[in-house]
Amino acid sequence: MAENVAIAPPGAFERIALIGLGLIGSSIARAARQFDAAAKIAALDASPEVLARVRELGIADEASDDPAVALRGADLVILCVPVGVCGEVARQIAPFLEPAAILSDVGSVKASVVAQVAPHVPQGVQFIPAHPVAGTEYSGPDAGFATLFQNRWCILTPPEGVDAHAIARLAAFWTRLGANVETMSAGHHDLVLAVTSHLPHLIAYNIVGTAADLEEVTQSEVIKFSASGFRDFTRIAASDPTMWRDIFLNNKDAVLEMLGRFDEDLTALQRMIRRGDGDGLFALFTRTRAIRGAIIEQGQDTAAPDFGRRDGGKG
Ligand code: NAP
Repeated sequence: MAENVAIAPPGAFERIALIGLGLIGSSIARAARQFDAAAKIAALDASPEVLARVRELGIADEASDDPAVALRGADLVILCVPVGVCGEVARQIAPFLEPAAILSDVGSVKASVVAQVAPHVPQGVQFIPAHPVAGTEYSGPDAGFATLFQNRWCILTPPEGVDAHAIARLAAFWTRLGANVETMSAGHHDLVLAVTSHLPHLIAYNIVGTAADLEEVTQSEVIKFSASGFRDFTRIAASDPTMWRDIFLNNKDAVLEMLGRFDEDLTALQRMIRRGDGDGLFALFTRTRAIRGAIIEQGQDTAAPDFGRRDGGKG
């Protein structure tokens, strides 16, 4: 009997190679299969445990630790590893990239990834950095799910001179996975994400650390009475330590810039509390409530009350 040859649906990639099969890599694998975005899915990971789990879960057609095997025939290669190792991984895989392949990534920081990866990109290969703005606080191949990118943004930051057709193909790939695609410069991306994602994480890490260190409140009280706001910070502060260490070290300038602005606003808030400026506090809290309303209106969150229960909708 003839061997089964997978044929890519129109517009889909023939073979995608995903490097790093954690939350994001394994979600792309699941979504690419569910939404017919690639005929074949190859997984490449440095960890034998991760590869074994990928095989057990059956989320890729092939799983290997050898770039020569995983990248052979791949017309799309996506780095899904922590930001801090993107340059090193790019160096390792560069000799095995197909001459006209598209190389992309999913890193939460863009300018640093471009600086690390670009020097290793062979001529002819189209390097288009990307960041799907979607995730959870969980890591590893078991954490991924096919619907992670539904109605989430995927930001592409193509450097000057990249082939427009390649950009359109990558945009179409993310659209198939359910994402809305937007294009901007790497520097602008890093500034926007510093305030919408990186700073909130830093605040969460800090407040949970502060509460844990308080001498006059016991740890058990912190946990017992956590429902009053603190609990939501602990969810964010449970995010992967490697990933977040790399984000802060690789988006240093933008994060420090936003932190400076935050610091000034916090001082203003302190003053309002000290002076008993109820009108000032009320005006700010009214403005912030409107932002929450706009986020729900744009479908980026639901208005359903969350009492910490899982809704089981992780697909
Ligand atoms: P993750 O679940 O920890 O997965 C990372 C995977 O990469 C793991 O399987 C890890 O293996 C593997 N890996 C690490 N170093 C490697 C290397 N040198 N060579 C090959 N594989 C290597 O992380 P993730 O949440 O998917 O994040 C991956 C990327 O997506 C990061 O750049 C992050 O900034 C970005 N991102 C994350 C989110 C989010 O919410 N999590 C959202 C958007 C973008 P080991 O486990 O053995 O180290």
